[in-house]
Amino acid sequence: MPAKNLQYHNDYPYFFKSDACKSCGGKCCRGQQGYIRINMEELGNMANAKGLSPKEFARQYVRQVTGGLSLQERIINNEHFCCFLDPVDHYCTIYQQRPEQCRTFPFWEEFKEEPEKLFLSCPGIISVPKPT
Ligand code: SF4
Repeated sequence: MPAKNLQYHNDYPYFFKSDACKSCGGKCCRGQQGYIRINMEELGNMANAKGLSPKEFARQYVRQVTGGLSLQERIINNEHFCCFLDPVDHYCTIYQQRPEQCRTFPFWEEFKEEPEKLFLSCPGIISVPKPT
């Protein structure tokens, strides 16, 4: 049984040590341009949390992308930051309302077979040796 701060899902060849988030500087929320996909329910929840109407929230923080909606990014020192990543302390400023895409990281389908890029970019990933 993994320790309390270790997350594990069947079929993924790694554990995730969530304590690493406290000191990694928000690496999964910044870097190259990408999508932080949200749905309408999440948009509504985040708008509520910000005290904004969904329409005003969308104007300030959402963009349309292929296949749906994404949170906007801000470019800081040539890096793309999620618009909700604090640029100074690197914490998510809407952590309790963060969307499903963020909640499920790093257990994404794309990493199941090819976890190598995660091993390089996320200090919370602990590889599980393959059975011999
Ligand atoms: S919503 Fe929060 S957890 Fe998700 S990418 Fe933005 S800053 Fe990171």
